[in-house]
Amino acid sequence: MVHWDPRALAVADRLNQAGFLTVLVGGCVRDALLSVPPHDYDLATAALPQEVEQCFPNLPCVETGLKHGTITVLSDGLPVEVTTFRKEGTYTDHRRPDQVEFTTDLAHDLSRRDFTVNAMAWGPGGLVDPHGGRGDLERRLIRCVGDPDPRFTEDALRPLRGLRLAAQLDFSLEADTASAIRRHIPELSHVAWERISTEFLRLICSPGAGRVLLDFPEAAAQILPELGPCVGFQQKNPHHRYDVYTHSVKTLEAVPPSPALRLAALLHDTGKPPSFTLDGDGTGHFYGHPKLSAQLAERALERLRVDGAVKDRALTLIARHDLPVEASRPWVGRWLSRLGEEVFFDLMALKRADALACGIPAAGREDVPLQALELARQLLAEHPCLTLKDLAVNGRDALAAGLEGPAVGTALRSLLDRVAAGELENQREILLGELNKH
Ligand code: ATP
Ligand code: MG
Repeated sequence: MVHWDPRALAVADRLNQAGFLTVLVGGCVRDALLSVPPHDYDLATAALPQEVEQCFPNLPCVETGLKHGTITVLSDGLPVEVTTFRKEGTYTDHRRPDQVEFTTDLAHDLSRRDFTVNAMAWGPGGLVDPHGGRGDLERRLIRCVGDPDPRFTEDALRPLRGLRLAAQLDFSLEADTASAIRRHIPELSHVAWERISTEFLRLICSPGAGRVLLDFPEAAAQILPELGPCVGFQQKNPHHRYDVYTHSVKTLEAVPPSPALRLAALLHDTGKPPSFTLDGDGTGHFYGHPKLSAQLAERALERLRVDGAVKDRALTLIARHDLPVEASRPWVGRWLSRLGEEVFFDLMALKRADALACGIPAAGREDVPLQALELARQLLAEHPCLTLKDLAVNGRDALAAGLEGPAVGTALRSLLDRVAAGELENQREILLGELNKH
């Protein structure tokens, strides 16, 4: 029924043989019961951290969080986190327990965990499930261990973890847990952005992200306040059926789950509320909103401590999301070259999703990006010249033709644009002739 990596089991066996009760716990038990391969292994043990290290004299052991009792044992290349059973003391800052107390009692350790599906253990006697985690797995429910209010007050990250788990597993939130999440979301302001960021990026890249974001707009707006004005903002435009927030979430659902694309989809229209105008017919317009969205998104993503490359990719996609697409060889060549292959493919995915998420038949508008993608694939198979590196002339040639300073780069880029569009052949003689025309 349940399959775990034998290298993780070997660590547990060794500790159990040494007389310390040791169990698999948390995500790896939950995932195995769902027949999903666990992506990391957490063990909980009655052994103290020093005792754990003494049991593995021949394996690399890293003191990952000695204060919290965690040793990472590298078992034949697999990192296995081994944490001493804990009961937690009081919390005064909504973040971390004031002090951590070790215990030899597994029941104490399980009762400090966040959700029932995460509070199961698997040990020498089989499954230990004092909080009904297995039943909740069958009912596909995320439910707090104990009374949600104090549990969320203790650690203000837990409400967001609950939303992330619901999205990741595509589970529902049990009613009391869901209403407590709504009450406690504002306390996220006490939590470090790095912890918020990790959970939020996992949430938005999960299969159930759309449903969770639509059910908990207050959580999205707490983490990205730029989304607040989008919630319920009616577009008064015949091309749009949904308010800005609903449309943004539906766009997110329709793009592949990479962080840059999902962030771009979620934030691409944040510039709409501040740029809204109504014309004489009562139709809403949002002139210049992509640029405004990119400015708002830049601040949001910096605050969220998003990795620089992901941030830059998302901002380019947002700034360009209204680029009119033409399914023609010149257009595709030119934009493949200007944006680079990866951004081009992401932008077409975003544009298709954006059109589909309007909720109103778009008269084939959603198919144009697909046609452009098909053309791009054909074009790439021909190994076209798309970068300055591949151009048959270079900076020396431009200097020899009498160009100076920034004019060198401008001339080469303009030649590349025409070559990529198929207007000029990438032949040295032809390109030298063009350079000499300047
Ligand atoms: P995954 O590995 O899929 O992210 P996970 O459940 O293993 O899921 P981790 O963040 O690795 O998540 O946490 C391991 C376990 O530690 C959880 O299953 C849970 O029992 C406990 N845990 C983690 N964070 C908290 C928290 N903030 N409050 C209470 N328990 C927590
Ligand atoms: Mg884990």
